[in-house]
Parts: sequence; C-alpha cells; structure tokens
Amino acid sequence: MQIEVKQLSKSFDRTSVVSDVHFSIRKGQLIGLLGPSGGGKTTILRLLAGLETPSSGEIYFDGQRVDRLPPQDRGIGFVFQNYALFKHMTVSENIEFGLRVQKKSRAEAAARVQELLELIGLQELAKRYPHQLSGGQRQRVAFARALAPAPQLLLLDEPFSAIDAKVRKELRDWLRDMITQLGVTSIFVTHDQEEAMAVADEIIVFNRGRIEQQGTPWEIFRHPATPFVASFIGDTNAIEDLSLLEHLVSLDRIEAGSKVLVRPESIEIDRQQELAATGAALLGVVRNVQFRGSYWQVELQVGSQQLLAQRPLEQEPLRPGDQVSVILHRAHLFAGTEN
Ligand code: ADP
Ligand code: MG
Repeated sequence: MQIEVKQLSKSFDRTSVVSDVHFSIRKGQLIGLLGPSGGGKTTILRLLAGLETPSSGEIYFDGQRVDRLPPQDRGIGFVFQNYALFKHMTVSENIEFGLRVQKKSRAEAAARVQELLELIGLQELAKRYPHQLSGGQRQRVAFARALAPAPQLLLLDEPFSAIDAKVRKELRDWLRDMITQLGVTSIFVTHDQEEAMAVADEIIVFNRGRIEQQGTPWEIFRHPATPFVASFIGDTNAIEDLSLLEHLVSLDRIEAGSKVLVRPESIEIDRQQELAATGAALLGVVRNVQFRGSYWQVELQVGSQQLLAQRPLEQEPLRPGDQVSVILHRAHLFAGTEN
C-alpha cells in the first residue's frame, strides 16, 4: 500500500505532539521511524491506524482518504512494544484472533494459522501459552498475529525494545527477511539508530513532533539535513578548538554557538608526520588504542583537542605515544547544536 500524509497535526490538551508532518511511503517499502523518546512516534502510528483522530491534516492509502475511517476498515496490522498477546490464549489462538474478527470460516482460519506458524518457524509451539515462550518467540507470534488478516500496512512500535541485545539483532534480521519476502509496506519505530540503519530501506528521523529528514540510511548518515540529525545518527567528535579547522574552512562562516562535528570513521591517520608540516594535516599524538572487533579505536590528542578516530584493521597498528598526521576532510564536517 502506498501511504501519503499531508500537513498532519495532533495536539493533546493544546499541547502539540505532531506538527504539520508530511511524508510519503512507496508500496512495499520498509520505513524506519527513528527519534528520541517522547518525540511523537507512537502518536504517528496511532494516527495511521485510526486509534487517534488528527487535529488537522490528511492521510491517504493508495490515493484514498482514510483519516476518518475506523481502525478495522484501514487494513492495518499493529505490533506493539510490550507483548500484547492474550495470556489466556495459545499461540494458535492468538494468531487466529484477527481472523475471527474477519469472520473467516473455521477451515480457512485454520489453514491461515498453519501457514503463519510455518512462516515464523514455530509450528511445534502452537499449543503453548505466552508465558511458556521466550521474549523473542512472543514477538514472532505478535508479528504473525498482526499479519494473519493480510494487512496492507504493518506498523511495528519498538517491537524488540524489551529483548536483550543478542536476540534482538537476530530478530531484526529475521524481521527484515520476513518483510522483504512478503513485500508488505511496513513502518518500524525505534529510538535506536543502529537498529533503524540495519532494518530500514528508508529512515524518517522524527524529533519533537516534526520530521527532520527522510532518506536512505546512507543519505542520512552521510548528508544529515539538520544539526539534530548529525548529532543523533552515528558517533561524532565535537571540535571545540575551531582553529584546527583553519586549513579547511573559513572560520567566520561557522555560526556563533554551533559546534563542528566529525565522525570517527571520517578521520584519517597517517604515520607520515611530514604531511602535517605541509599544512594538509594536523599533527597529533596517539593517546590510546582499543581493539573494537572490526576496527581500532584510536584516541588522539591534537593540540588541546581530543578526537576519537577509527582505524581499519588492515592498516598498521598504532601505539600510545606515536606521533601521526591527522587528516580531516572538509566534506565530512557537520554543524551541530550545543546540546
Ligand atoms: P514516542 O513514541 O516518540 O516516545 P509519543 O507519541 O508516545 O512519543 O508521545 C509524544 C508526546 O505526546 C509525549 O509527550 C506524550 O506524553 C504525549 N502524549 C501521547 N499520547 C497522549 C495522550 N493520549 N494524552 C496526552 N498526551 C499524550
Ligand atoms: Mg513510543
């Protein structure tokens, strides 16, 4: 289903929670809705699902206006943050729930439940109750239950936030495969930028009721549209000693009160100290080096400024005390806000 949202706003008791939001989502896309807690992400999902009424604005599904339709007429599946399985129902009964609402025949419903149990790979757990399942298994069942009525749009509200890191990574890969295979248009809400990057085709960065940027993970990472996006996505070094940048940018172009940010992976380190002498690089000293599995994390001292850099494993290792040239590229500098 293709989604279009225009000038959508929602206030609770005159407090604006979603302000003049517009975005569109192509059919079959998996969108990550990413932003800090309290920013209004859940409210957006609830507006799409029909669980909240907009204060103003319009929502279109496949060109048809739906913002006044009741939830059951919108063709949406919802997976909630906390496991919203029915405790007194088995796995099968939970998955079947949405089908009973649709008044499917018994045989049809049973066949559909079987199909979904196979899809999520939990056939042998069909007769179990939610409390007999692990957190990951419960969220798979919640996913199957949401999919059972064959929704046109699947909304997932921080579905893995209560699950520990390792299983969570497996689940997100699993979810991505499932959704890609099914081709169902989906919105995945998370406050975890790494999770959004790993899962989504495109990310909408949302903050304080507004969209900061929509783009592919790569676009958002490489070309953040706002200072908020630059600071929220990825690790950054805040450069306080702006004189270090004199060879790259004219300093009077940097706004008062703003910081300049650079990502650790954008900082190059060269063992040839001569580079610094030519003015093409800064002279730095290695303070500390840590092995991080897929790269070396290098702590550098450049004048009064400390910088974190990433060094590829295949490059010659560095040691504390090494004098090096530190290379910054103008194209990799971002403006950031104070906080
Ligand atoms: P997120 O999902 O990004 O954490 P929410 O959409 O849950 O953000 O909430 C955004 C803001 O709206 C919060 O300040 C929250 O307290 C407020 N809010 C959400 N739902 C209601 C409601 N039903 N009544 C009043 N305030 C609400
Ligand atoms: Mg939320």
